[in-house]
Amino acid sequence: MHCPYCRHTDTRVVDSRVGEDGGTIRRRRTCTECGKRFSTVEQMQLVVVKRSGATEPFVRDKAIAGARKACKGRPVTEDDLACLGQAVEDALRGDGWAEVPAHEVGLAILGPLKALDEVAYLRFASVYRAFESADDFADEIAALRAERSLTEGSLAQLVEDETHSAPSG
Ligand SMILES: [Zn+2]
Repeated sequence: MHCPYCRHTDTRVVDSRVGEDGGTIRRRRTCTECGKRFSTVEQMQLVVVKRSGATEPFVRDKAIAGARKACKGRPVTEDDLACLGQAVEDALRGDGWAEVPAHEVGLAILGPLKALDEVAYLRFASVYRAFESADDFADEIAALRAERSLTEGSLAQLVEDETHSAPSG
């Protein structure tokens, strides 16, 4: 690796440590020419295995292309999509995938996309899960509603607990 300051091609590792998540190695290097120090991070390469069996490097933008399409016309920003890509990559790396099947990438998108925009989620899920009829949509919407009322229910419970445990006087 060459020096980012003087472009000298010979640098020396002075310290290596494993990152907190265990998935990265951070190396402190020093340039043998100008003496400046810099750090590099070594990370496992994530590879996507396509249905054909062909493999290609995981690229965030490419991985979330389907989700991006599903977000068309929805109030979802480029920042939101960037966060989605990050969340998907983090989830896959967190699961310890080195070679991840393409359908697992889709699976990892469902959760964060649902949190981002429910309409986009339904669009994406309909393609990903190959919805065949209006009933499939109805089922998924019912599931979303059930989930939401569950969340709201537990929120209400939380507020109630807080109120009851608050010190009086
Ligand atoms: Zn240098």
